[in-house]
Parts: sequence; structure tokens; C-alpha cells
Amino acid sequence: MELILATNNDHKKSEITAILGNHTILLPNELDVPFDHEETGSTYFENAYGKAKTLYDLVHRPVLADDSGLVVPAIGGEPGIYSSRYGSGEARRMLGQKERNAYLLQKMKKITDRSAFFVCCMVLILEDERFFACQETVHGRITLEPSGTGGFGYDPLFYLDDHGKTVAELPEDTKNRISHRGQAGKRMESIIIDIEREKR
Ligand code: IMP
Repeated sequence: MELILATNNDHKKSEITAILGNHTILLPNELDVPFDHEETGSTYFENAYGKAKTLYDLVHRPVLADDSGLVVPAIGGEPGIYSSRYGSGEARRMLGQKERNAYLLQKMKKITDRSAFFVCCMVLILEDERFFACQETVHGRITLEPSGTGGFGYDPLFYLDDHGKTVAELPEDTKNRISHRGQAGKRMESIIIDIEREKR
């Protein structure tokens, strides 16, 4: 299936292309579609659905959106749905990801319970009023300092006991298999297979 991804983030495209290997993933800017969406939802689902619907209304073709974030229960669930802008309010400017990671480590300086999880909500809109959604998580711990150069975002701070590594130290294909996005993508793939089977 050809799916237009509701983002202009190339890294997201490459992860989702690897996860949904049987499908063609296109970005709005590759089709000259002026996609822009302000995330105003209070849940991952509202944000993912909002992005998908904004794009669907522009293209009227199958679209896929994801919204994700990191949750640290010991600091009240931060950064949560604000993961991409974390710390920017206090700094009064948009922080870069390295600065955001430093901000999180600073916030957690005295915190001993370092358990955390990533969340990914995916929404697929196929036609008017016809959509599918799934949300998955992956659990780990926040390290005391960054380690690794792979992935993106908070990956250098997210340690997986089962692998003895941060996500940024994992090979790309391993991240794509076990991550919150990988898990949600796998569920979405089953839904797409089911829908295509019914069409035959
Ligand atoms: P988005 O709203 O789905 O683009 O994700 C929000 C933010 O969550 C990103 O800017 C990253 O900081 C963080 N994030 C989402 N997914 C990941 C991931 O796979 N690894 C590390 N950070 C992530």
C-alpha cells in the first residue's frame, strides 16, 4: 500500500519505511503537499489523529501518522506528550535534542527510580471516517549520562536491561524491531494485511 506519512521528519520516514517494509512510504514534501500541524492534543492519540486528519484532508489518500514520547513516572510522567519541546518553556527558546537530554538528566539528578517508557500511537486513515489506531510501549531506564550515537531523540539516555545497552547503542534493525514505534508498526501491518486480504 502507498502511505503518506504525516511528518516532515526524514528520520521518522526511514524508521517507518524499515518497519513497514512491504509498503511505500512518502512524505508530504515529496508530493509538494504543504503539510503543517500544530500538536494541541492532550493525548498521543489526539495528536496522532490530528496529524493524520490534517494530512488526509489535503490528499484524500491513505495516510499514516504517529505521535510518540518518553514517560518518566518518577517525575510525574514528564516529558510525556511534550517530549519534543521539553525544557523549552523554561529556556524561553526551542532547545536542541542534546540540550533536552541534559535538561532531563538535570531534572533527574536526585531521582533513584529511573524507570521510564516510550509510547507510540499510530493512526491510519484509509477513507473518509475510516481509520485504525494502535498504541504500544517499550520499557527501560534512564541512564546517568548519554551513551551511543544511533537513533534519535532520547535514545542515548534510554537503557534496555534485556540488551545491556542504550537504544542509541543498538543496531538500527534491532531498534526497529523492539521499539515502541516498531511494535505499533507491527500491529498496523497486521491490520493492513487483513484489510488487503478482504479486498481480494
Ligand atoms: P513525535 O511527536 O512523535 O515526533 O515525538 C516527540 C519526541 O519524542 C521526539 O522529538 C523525541 O524527542 C521523542 N521520541 C519519540 N520517539 C523517539 C525514539 O524512538 N527515540 C528517542 N526519542 C523519541
